[in-house]
Amino acid sequence: MTLDTDITYLPGIGPSRAKLLEAELGIKTWHDLLYTFPYKHIDRSRLYKIRELTSDMPFVQVLGQFLSFEEAGQGRKHRLTGHFWDGEMFLDVTWFNGIRFIKQSVKLRQDYILFGRPGVYGGRLSVIHPDLDNPESTVLSKMSMQPYYSTTERMKKAGLTSRTMERFTSTLLSKITWTLPETLPTYLIERLHLMPLDKALRAAHYPTTADELASANMRLKFEELFFIQLVIMSYARKRQQERKGRKFTRIGGLFNTFFHHYLPFPLTEAQKRVIREMHADMKSGHQMNRLLQGDVGSGKTLVALMVMLIAIDNGCQTCIMAPTEILAEQHLETFRSFLKDMPVRVELLTGNVKGKRRAAIEEGLKDGSVHILIGTHAVIEDNVQFRDLGLIIIDEQHRFGVAQRAKLQKNGPTPHVLVMTATPIPRTLAMTVYGDLDVSVIDELPPGRKPVRTMHIYDNQPEQLYRGVIREIEAGHQVYFVYPLVKESEKLDLKNVQDEFVHLKEVFPQYKISMVHGKMKPSEKDAEMQKFVSGETQILVATTVIEVGVNVPNASVMIIQNAERFGLSQLHQLRGRVGRGAEQSYCILVSGFKLSAETRKRLRIMTETNDGFEIAEADLKLRGPGDLEGTQQSGIAFNLRLANLGRDGQLVQLARDTATFVLDADPELQATDNALLRNHLQELKKEHRDWSQIS
Ligand code: ADP
Ligand code: MG
Repeated sequence: MTLDTDITYLPGIGPSRAKLLEAELGIKTWHDLLYTFPYKHIDRSRLYKIRELTSDMPFVQVLGQFLSFEEAGQGRKHRLTGHFWDGEMFLDVTWFNGIRFIKQSVKLRQDYILFGRPGVYGGRLSVIHPDLDNPESTVLSKMSMQPYYSTTERMKKAGLTSRTMERFTSTLLSKITWTLPETLPTYLIERLHLMPLDKALRAAHYPTTADELASANMRLKFEELFFIQLVIMSYARKRQQERKGRKFTRIGGLFNTFFHHYLPFPLTEAQKRVIREMHADMKSGHQMNRLLQGDVGSGKTLVALMVMLIAIDNGCQTCIMAPTEILAEQHLETFRSFLKDMPVRVELLTGNVKGKRRAAIEEGLKDGSVHILIGTHAVIEDNVQFRDLGLIIIDEQHRFGVAQRAKLQKNGPTPHVLVMTATPIPRTLAMTVYGDLDVSVIDELPPGRKPVRTMHIYDNQPEQLYRGVIREIEAGHQVYFVYPLVKESEKLDLKNVQDEFVHLKEVFPQYKISMVHGKMKPSEKDAEMQKFVSGETQILVATTVIEVGVNVPNASVMIIQNAERFGLSQLHQLRGRVGRGAEQSYCILVSGFKLSAETRKRLRIMTETNDGFEIAEADLKLRGPGDLEGTQQSGIAFNLRLANLGRDGQLVQLARDTATFVLDADPELQATDNALLRNHLQELKKEHRDWSQIS
């Protein structure tokens, strides 16, 4: 027998269950089942008496009998309450669903082990929807830490519950009579005091104590993270060696002229530092691959321009890619106004640029007379021909993973690459998604910025909100109204925004209002935006199309409607649109009353901090990295069964340090000690198409 054995060779699993297991959880072999870990364990080593229970306890179990049942309530309140007696006291046990089934199957005056979470219902201590077990059940009697497995609705309907899964795994472990082969070299296991794989896999399902479970989980999580880091770092090192970059040794005329005569304000210390870091990369002879993180408004655009001037001073062309046309156009304007009469040719290439103008720009790119090309990703990734492209900057793009960056490497000498993002990526995620990038951080805002004051209000008192809007506009400021965009129903959104536009026109007949949304033609959108930018309109009604980059320093209020429908990072991005001038700015989060605990927490974090990194960490913890944009497109097929990039930050660090340690000593993994690692790495590269393409 091996772990490749088909799952049907396990007692209790016939063809139909096998089919279901494969369809729902992808379990085909013994190996698959072994690596389908419980999502939690519950300590069932102790029986409680009802008098000991309090409503803040986690799961508890009580031995007792039902003495009677009673049904009450109508509709959604319809419920069945059982009176559970432990020989001393009664406890209310309530069901809202499956009442008929409970009445048929649960016997009065018979011992049960009741297992559930105590809470307060109708002012009385009670347990809702508990598990009930027969005390003689063999599984229970030998178990202290009971595993709980995820199952799907379809599985439950077919009777495949967590308990069934538990039976399968316990049978499986008894069938695996051999010691499972180790995947990590002995020297690492000893160095890090890891639990051996065989023991860890068994204990991850059936630990004897909470400590043992923790060690088993640590070992398995570490392994997952370690191999990811090993792949990323061995790849990054190879690439670093292979990709000779151009050497930009000169800091020449353009940079110096700009720095001494055109800079409208002194650079912040952080801006100076990151420019130095990038210059060091660009003159090193290796390709720069750097991620520049800086909170909204931290002045990344200026940094980009100055780094571009270095490249131009060294005889190269540069391009900057923005995620939207509005942003690309704003960059054009910003760059031209920064550069004034300097001899630097800046051009914009978007889908709108056609005919003769486009031909002229393309000509200038080929003959090298265009120094800075600004465009959208789509446009530039498409076959644009440069004479000599030396630096690519990707703005506001945290979704730009390894694979996409590899695509940019066209023929000719390798350009330097700078990815800029205002989405602060927590370190642990950056290490994984952008494991091969160096990171620079602008951790300082230009002086004189007042932190945005953020408030959360409910949507039942718009008058008060409108009075505030009038006050701000009368003081000469401008106001954003933002509405969420729902992917499933773009039509509905459009209706929302358009309805609100009409509504706000009625509320504020004295003001001019612009509207932008994703369904407008770029030219219309720009025209509307332009009116707001120039101050012709006082209010901008928008969907999240304004999320990134738009800069209107005179706008001092951002009202986010249905704030409950936005993620934390998105709220923070939106808020970054205000607070760009010297005036006190406000961000008003408007929501309904009905909010989940998580949403409440999200909104509270927004009112408590302006720090993008704090917010990103909180976001990662609240949502987990699976949802974070970027992980999917990163070009790395993550296969984290246990580890969580949000919660296991320290393990990510340990994994990275360990990978560095291993590769420093043996870059090609040729030592006999590292044979296991070498083989596994090769398998991983085979599995992940993305990786094999680029490494
Ligand atoms: P982001 O990092 O969000 O892209 P921007 O580059 O748009 O930020 O900068 C925000 C604003 O701050 C712009 O109006 C820019 O001109 C201004 N700015 C940038 N650097 C400085 C500085 N060192 N001192 C004062 N203002 C600055
Ligand atoms: Mg920007």
